[in-house]
Amino acid sequence: MSNHHKVIIAGSGLAALAAAARLNELGVKDIAIYAGGLGGTPYIAAINFVLPENPYGDTPELYAKDMLVAGYNIGNKELVNEMAANTLKGYELLCRWGVTFAHNEDGSIKLRHVSGHTYPRSLCQTTNLIGVEIEKVMLKKLEEAGIEFHRKTQVVDLLKNSEGKIEGFTVIEKGGEPYNVYAPVVVASWGGVGNLLGTSTYPDDVKGNTLGMAKNAGAELVDLEFIEFEPMVMMSPAGAVGEPCPTAMLGEGGYLLNSEGERFLLEVRPQGEAGAPKSLINHEIWKQVAKGKGNPHGGIWVDLRHVDVKILKAYPWFYDRLMNNGCDPNKELLEVGPMPHSFSGGIRVDRNYESNVKGLYAIGEACGGIHGACRCAGNAASQATLSGLLCAEGIMRTGELDRAISERPVAYKQNDSVRAKYLDELQKIAGHALGVYRNGKDLEEALNSTQKILDAPEVSGDDLTSQTALAINLILKAALNRKESRGTHNRTDYPASDPAYEKEFVF
Ligand SMILES: Cc1cc2nc3c(=O)[nH]c(=O)nc-3n(C[C@H](O)[C@H](O)[C@H](O)COP(=O)(O)OP(=O)(O)OC[C@H]3O[C@@H](n4cnc5c(N)ncnc54)[C@H](O)[C@@H]3O)c2cc1C
Repeated sequence: MSNHHKVIIAGSGLAALAAAARLNELGVKDIAIYAGGLGGTPYIAAINFVLPENPYGDTPELYAKDMLVAGYNIGNKELVNEMAANTLKGYELLCRWGVTFAHNEDGSIKLRHVSGHTYPRSLCQTTNLIGVEIEKVMLKKLEEAGIEFHRKTQVVDLLKNSEGKIEGFTVIEKGGEPYNVYAPVVVASWGGVGNLLGTSTYPDDVKGNTLGMAKNAGAELVDLEFIEFEPMVMMSPAGAVGEPCPTAMLGEGGYLLNSEGERFLLEVRPQGEAGAPKSLINHEIWKQVAKGKGNPHGGIWVDLRHVDVKILKAYPWFYDRLMNNGCDPNKELLEVGPMPHSFSGGIRVDRNYESNVKGLYAIGEACGGIHGACRCAGNAASQATLSGLLCAEGIMRTGELDRAISERPVAYKQNDSVRAKYLDELQKIAGHALGVYRNGKDLEEALNSTQKILDAPEVSGDDLTSQTALAINLILKAALNRKESRGTHNRTDYPASDPAYEKEFVF
């Protein structure tokens, strides 16, 4: 197998699959995917598309408006409008590559109403998670179409030439030696950063050090302070901890309760819980906990006892996990609370999803600055699809697919004792300072601690540790820099949002 390609893709989640599928349709033959696992994609329950035949009078324009409102006025209008305008193309791409969606009895597509949306526009499967279906059918078809897959492979370093253009990356397989792979076009689709903070809903293969790797390659990063916290993640029983209770449950008639049995969200949202933005839910949960009205694990309760069991069973991954752990949502209240779940920051991109580093493109959760301070539920998956599709079309416009590249020695450094000494400590520092509620003092202390680690001479001898420390350090800087509360970024020392901060910060 050759180690030279036209396009190499880091990651095999939905964004990567969509990009590879569209590149293949556009005639690019030599594409290789290097990935450590499947990322967050198999966990996707909801994916939003606005289809022309919807019964609500929904339009791409209304969808774009919802995204910009959910982003607290600092989403990227150009990228949001383009994503919404292409929503049908995204849906059709997935259909062409074999993905099927659940239908109602009358034959219409089943649409769910998830958090942050004016109308139901979330497509799904009712027998399994839609993300599992996507991975299963698209991986198979892409392999049949000749896309090369390198599974269980970590991308550990990006390669750039003296003119600042990308030339490939270094990869390592478990137990093997690192080696270089070359291409004039590199697509970063390595997902988000939640695991940098310790306990999160992210799978283990999405580590977050990739943000530091991108920075070391000279990529501009944006909106790093906006880590999304999923508001209703199960906090008990032990076997169900970490399982998100879908916010779509609020659209199915569920509601949130404090320890006094009050539907507290109605105080700020009299129209009801359905469609409430996640950031609002997180904020109101925090207020209840701060007033001493929370549950023993630092969250609140969701009440689904009155929701028809047939509806609950249409979310089998959730219902079965609860029932298998002795928790019947028709009989008892569920203890839920916020956990790190997805990331709206990342590599800054232009309309072609290309970064400021020539040839380095970024899609899905790896790119940032589109959603602003918060995103609507189900939009991580839509954005993964649309950014992959639009990036592939962008590569056809701006990618130097025939640029020649010379080989070079591997420069990647690894030292297990440095990892053992610092990686857990870094997670603890980040988890403490970068939680759902932040304050300047903790952020300053954490920044100093990560800076000391970055400056320790031994740390430069291990690239994973230095990339991880750099990633956390930059998120801390971004969080300190934004002296206000907006969307998913909440500071107890600056509780209100400030119009002076209606902008993005680039690092
Ligand atoms: C439990 C859970 C439930 C979710 N539910 C929803 C939902 O219902 N709707 C929704 O819109 N979003 C949901 N999300 C978020 C959604 O899963 C992600 O935003 C989406 O999968 C992003 O797609 P992606 O392709 O960018 O990244 P991912 O799907 O996370 O894929 C990242 C890929 O990069 C690989 N990778 C990471 N680092 C490296 C590296 N160094 N080298 C090589 N490969 C690497 C991973 O192995 C993986 O293949 C959920 C997330 C979780 C964790």
